[in-house]
Amino acid sequence: TLILGLESSCDETAAALVDSDRRILAHRVAGQEADHAPYGGVVPEIAARAHVVRLAPIVAGVLKDAGVTLADIDAVAATAGPGLIGGVMVGLVTGKALAHAANKPLIAVNHLEGHALSPRLADPALEFPYLLLLVSGGHCQLLLVKGVGDYRRLATTIDDAAGEAFDKTAKLLGLGYPGGPAVERVARDGNRQAVPLPRPLVGSAEPHFSFAGLKSAVARAAASGAHSVPDLAASFQQAVVDCLVDRSRIALGACPEATAFVVAGGVAANGAIRDALTGLAARFDKPFVAPPLWLCTDNGAMIAWAGAERFAAGITDDLGVAARPRWPLDPAAEAVRGAGV
Ligand code: ATP
Ligand code: MG
Ligand code: FE
Repeated sequence: TLILGLESSCDETAAALVDSDRRILAHRVAGQEADHAPYGGVVPEIAARAHVVRLAPIVAGVLKDAGVTLADIDAVAATAGPGLIGGVMVGLVTGKALAHAANKPLIAVNHLEGHALSPRLADPALEFPYLLLLVSGGHCQLLLVKGVGDYRRLATTIDDAAGEAFDKTAKLLGLGYPGGPAVERVARDGNRQAVPLPRPLVGSAEPHFSFAGLKSAVARAAASGAHSVPDLAASFQQAVVDCLVDRSRIALGACPEATAFVVAGGVAANGAIRDALTGLAARFDKPFVAPPLWLCTDNGAMIAWAGAERFAAGITDDLGVAARPRWPLDPAAEAVRGAGV
């Protein structure tokens, strides 16, 4: 079974062809760093316009790379949310048009399910249920992944996402956009113990996250003029590592049924975070699974793979399906936003 996947929910325009045997026949990603860099972050209207310009050529490109035509594919999978609604609409309507033209089913993919299932594309041995730390630009959650479309959210952030914290810290340290890779690069030359910073929520019973106070503490430390940028970056990154490890430790303790500890999302590309989580999984005697770096940040292959998993489960969508700016993986958890989370 061959699936075409389209991704356009943020600032990557991407498409890929993936088959049900986990073969990635082709994938292309176009970032928009140059378009957004002058503004220090993603501008939704500019992102949507860039997707309009780039997506169709990228689709033509992956078909050419793989040496196939639309007639050879079995379904079209497109991100239908959550994300910046203008970009999501570009990808979804492109997917609908291609599905209609090829007379093939459409699969409306939740971008977060793309991240959540991407480790199974990379590792055929990864079985449900697994504990997932989903760390991306817009999300920071611990989820028990029980099956396709079947998620239990154990924790989320009460303020900023992990990637958001990296991006805001990069901005205030003058490291530019995109922030995560820049912070990681500069942190290599710094001392991670140089700057005392808080570890918000570490030690609390529920494995939720908080990063807003950490970012503010970095801002104060930077303003004091007492620290170098590499020391600030390294100390910030270490604080994030400590928070992720402590919170994941609670969740691992609560999920003995998990077959593995898995990390996904753009922040999962961070080497210090991957190393620390590897050690944590070993302490719980669980296999640790992290996708290759290119599969962590947004791409079309994860959307095609989520589409392949849904297609195998017999799930396809109507051409009238809507784009959704918000779309939780565990709607029940989202509905009981009790104590601020
Ligand atoms: P979401 O998936 O929540 O909708 P998104 O799609 O914008 O958000 P991703 O593409 O999954 O997010 O990840 C992008 C985020 O990952 C950015 O915040 C970026 O700074 C961060 N990131 C990327 N590489 C690294 C890295 N090496 N270290 C830390 N953070 C990183
Ligand atoms: Mg991006
Ligand atoms: Fe993403």
